[in-house]
Amino acid sequence: MRIHQNHFQGKVNIDNKEENNMDGIFKCDVCGADINNDDGFLCWREDYNGGYHDFKITHRRCLPKDTLDINIEDAYSIDGRSKLILMVERGDVADFASWAEVFKRFHTPNYEEARPHLPQAKKDGFFEGASDEAILNQESLLAVIQQYGRKD
Ligand SMILES: [Zn+2]
Repeated sequence: MRIHQNHFQGKVNIDNKEENNMDGIFKCDVCGADINNDDGFLCWREDYNGGYHDFKITHRRCLPKDTLDINIEDAYSIDGRSKLILMVERGDVADFASWAEVFKRFHTPNYEEARPHLPQAKKDGFFEGASDEAILNQESLLAVIQQYGRKD
């Protein structure tokens, strides 16, 4: 069985390690450098009530102390999407803003690449008062990447 998560330009095939390459897609929330798929984690803190907070994507070496974590592949895969949804369904997530941010980074195509440019694009009036939903749609994210990113 071959499963393609084709929304990242077919870069991920969870049954095939050779093609399961997310190197350089994600930036570390601690040091800002590119993350390779054997070196990345999704981490979060658990409060004294068992609620999950402060979701971050980091390198192994950058993992904050006293956090829970899963390997980035386990968060980025199709199964990872289910895992993240289950956290919410079970009532484990106390900090929806940081959960939603990492969920979009993993599972909204092109979001991670457009993300660093969104503040400038908003400042420039690039979205002309568009709704949050409109800003997050694929056409809009790709337009931001084209306008502000990929200068090579
Ligand atoms: Zn780092």
